Amino acid sequence: ANERITQLARTDALTGLANRGYFQERFQEIFSLTERHDLELTLLLADLDHFKRINDTYGHDIGDKVLQAFGSILASESRTEDLPARFGGEELIIMLPKTSAPEATAICHRLRGELIHAAILPEADYVTFSAGIAEYAEGDTEASLLKKADDALYRAKESGRDRCVVSP
Ligand code: GH3
Ligand code: MG
Ligand code: MG
Repeated sequence: ANERITQLARTDALTGLANRGYFQERFQEIFSLTERHDLELTLLLADLDHFKRINDTYGHDIGDKVLQAFGSILASESRTEDLPARFGGEELIIMLPKTSAPEATAICHRLRGELIHAAILPEADYVTFSAGIAEYAEGDTEASLLKKADDALYRAKESGRDRCVVSP
C-alpha cells in the first residue's frame, strides 16, 4: 500500500508520466552523477503547438486526449534510464542520461513523426510540438541546463514551431 501511495505521489494523473516534483528529484540526482563522473546528459523540453486552439476548436476533452497521446509517445520512445515527465500544462520533458544533443535530436524527430501519425484529430488537422534540446556542459548548473532547454524551445516557437532546436 505504501508503494502504491509513493507511486501515486510521483505520477501525473492525466498522462501517467512522472510529475514535476518527481522529475526535479531525479534530475538533481542524475545531474550530480553527470557532473561528478563527467557523463553526458541531455534535456528535451517539448511544448504542444497552438494547444489553446486545439482546446478551442475541439474541446477540452479532446485536448486532454492529445496530451495523453503525446505522453504515451514519449513513454514509448524512452529507454529505462530515461525519464519522461509532465513539466507543466502542455509541456513535457525527457531527461536523457548518457545521451548527446545529436542523439536527442534524432529522438525528437522520431517523436514528431509519431505524433503526426497518431492522427488524434480529424483528418484535415494534426498535432505538432516544438522542442528545445540542451546538453550538459562543464560549468552548467541544474538551473542553467533547464534554462538552455527553455531558451531553445523559445527559439523553436519563434522560428515557426514544429521543430527541434538545439541550444548552442
Ligand atoms: P504555443 O504554440 O505558443 O505553445 O501556443 P499554445 O496555444 O500551445 O500556448 P498557450 O500557452 O497560449 O496555451 C496553452 C494552453 O494549454 C492553454 C491551456 O488551457 C492548455 N492546457 C494546459 N493544461 C491542459 C490540460 O491539462 N488539458 C487541456 N485540455 N488543456 C490544457
Ligand atoms: Mg503550447
Ligand atoms: Mg506552454
